[in-house]
Amino acid sequence: MSDKRSKDLLNIQTKFIHSGSLRSQFNETSEAIYLTSGYIYSSAEEAEARFKGDDDGYIYSRYSNPNLSMLENKLCEMEGAESARLTSSGMAAVFWSIFANVQSGDHIVAADAIFGSCLSILKDILPNYGIEITIVRATRIAQWKKAIKKNTKIFFFETPTNPMLEILDISELSELAKLHNIKVIVDNVFATPLRQRPLQFGADIVIYSGTKHIDGQGRCLGGAILSDREFIENKLHDYLKHTGPALSPFNAWIMMKGLETLAVRTDKQIDNAAQIANQMADMHNIVDVIYPGHTSHPQYIIAQKQMDGGGPMLTFKIRGGKKEAFNFLNQLKIIKISNNLGDSKSLITHPATTTHRSLLPKERETLGITDNTLRLSVGLEDVKDILLDLHEASKKV
Ligand SMILES: *Cc1c(COP(=O)(O)O)cnc(C)c1O
Repeated sequence: MSDKRSKDLLNIQTKFIHSGSLRSQFNETSEAIYLTSGYIYSSAEEAEARFKGDDDGYIYSRYSNPNLSMLENKLCEMEGAESARLTSSGMAAVFWSIFANVQSGDHIVAADAIFGSCLSILKDILPNYGIEITIVRATRIAQWKKAIKKNTKIFFFETPTNPMLEILDISELSELAKLHNIKVIVDNVFATPLRQRPLQFGADIVIYSGTKHIDGQGRCLGGAILSDREFIENKLHDYLKHTGPALSPFNAWIMMKGLETLAVRTDKQIDNAAQIANQMADMHNIVDVIYPGHTSHPQYIIAQKQMDGGGPMLTFKIRGGKKEAFNFLNQLKIIKISNNLGDSKSLITHPATTTHRSLLPKERETLGITDNTLRLSVGLEDVKDILLDLHEASKKV
């Protein structure tokens, strides 16, 4: 374990296993699943008290549920956040973290290198409601500065970015935002939870696609929003309660179980990714390897400051174009072709024809997504087998 991990993180593994559990009268070791939509009150008075807010028991699973409470408790400890709410997918978390913070007439500045659906929310949906958007080149702080207006309410970005793994300086952007009363929302998937904690660097809101490393085995969708009590409990809670993007108790249970093994899984994935990044540059027909934990990365210094390790994702380029990239993919035997990530299985994708297909060629060019670019989400396999698979495929391109 690196010494950059702060003291409270040293026992996070223990906390993940034991804290935040709510046990039933049967005193089960593994937490129960509460597949219930409603709750029974012992009296009419109790029902009244609950609706009045004098009694904090459960009312309806669109509002909350014991499985969601358990997962929220553990996520708050993981992130050092005051409060959290869960959603049925990462995208619902992205949407509501933004939407609950703006009204007609407000302005948002967002990075150009963000997850595709996030860009759609910002560019195609929010402008219909009188919300102004400026998209800036992610790594150019000067562009963020210049984009700020009187009505700017939000900075939105992810780091490392998808798929080029550029690093944005969370503390620099947060300091700039604070000067102008702007809230910083970080979509914190690619570094994995635990290994990058944006709230410590001044961000206001952290969101997760729990679908990725929190579940970690590619089983279910879910999302989380973490922030201060004021925003989560006095603002966001009612938005979610009345519009209903609730996470199912079953998926919450899976993700809570995922947290018990999160640290060991991501330690291994990051270790594997670092070894692959080190060795890939020497393989046939590989012309560029992009990995935030490698000294060759253009923002290596910032990555060192805010990430613990280089992350479980790496991006590389094959000599040639689309044909050679497809050849390479089709030669792989262990690594699977999939646009998903954060799975125990190593997954690889060709962004230009899948996740980033809807961008204009010009936009892909700005981001550096060429036809020979491939993005690898490193899994839990023996790294020797992943390396051999990559090596064999690279020889046959
Ligand atoms: C996957 C992902 C999302 C969307 O999450 P879903 O759970 O698929 O809705 C958003 N942002 C990032 C960075 C992601 O990787």
